[in-house]
Amino acid sequence: MPTLAELRQFARYHLVRRVYDYPARDPEMDVVTIGYDPDAFEAEIRAFEGRFSVREALRVTYRNTSRPVLEVETPNAREATQRVLVLSGVHGNEQAGILCVPPLLERLDEARASLARVAVRVLTPVNAVGAAEVSRFNAEGYDINRDFRRFYTAEARLVRDAIASFAPDIVLSLHEGPQDASFVFSNARCDVAQVERWLAEIEAKGTTLARKDYFGSTLPSPGLSPATLGSRFVVSLWANSLGMMAANGYCAERGIAELTLESSWKGTDREARIRAHVELCMAVVRTLATR
Ligand SMILES: [Zn+2]
Repeated sequence: MPTLAELRQFARYHLVRRVYDYPARDPEMDVVTIGYDPDAFEAEIRAFEGRFSVREALRVTYRNTSRPVLEVETPNAREATQRVLVLSGVHGNEQAGILCVPPLLERLDEARASLARVAVRVLTPVNAVGAAEVSRFNAEGYDINRDFRRFYTAEARLVRDAIASFAPDIVLSLHEGPQDASFVFSNARCDVAQVERWLAEIEAKGTTLARKDYFGSTLPSPGLSPATLGSRFVVSLWANSLGMMAANGYCAERGIAELTLESSWKGTDREARIRAHVELCMAVVRTLATR
């Protein structure tokens, strides 16, 4: 029998109702923070204006303050033939998925000439309030990544609208989890052989691939949790009974490939956690640039 604490934990991650009335830290998740500062991050992203287009896509007000969700886009949207949408910080306490954005933008800028065919748009942090409060949840206590069916949250609606307007070929959602190393969930629209090549690339660049996912299940190949008939059944059951859907399921319904990267939030090596995200994004963009 699960304990009451385990049932509470399950409900917190899997039910659509508000889990809190406000963004709250979850100390039992044992997330190792790696120094996200909301004001410094905002200034750092805004300083990319000129090399990228930077705009405030959404401002979320809570208590007596507010936080912006920034949209950063490469300047080649018109001539590009491939599009990558990066969702950074859907869960605010998964800091590597946010702190990877400045080094990723530097890398995209350096490789600009060879990546001219690929437009990249980044939303960061999608959960701006959760990021500032070191919380998985948004200002109202919702998990944004359970809200891609009902769209109660402004943040999920922002992502939905970005998918509609930007029409990405692939969506990369940058997360972290409690497992020991990095893995990706690939949705049913991903080419599994291609995802395995990307994983081999990030492994060659120093990312340790997980053997088990965060449920403790052994992965079919290192670092890869592909959509299966079973997982698709659970996703549809979840959507139809509880009205919940994550971004990967929403993309799958629209024929869009989606990769959710999960690095380990237990890692104390800040650079290693960030590197997994930067290198996966770069591997994907480089491949699309050759299409
Ligand atoms: Zn997450």
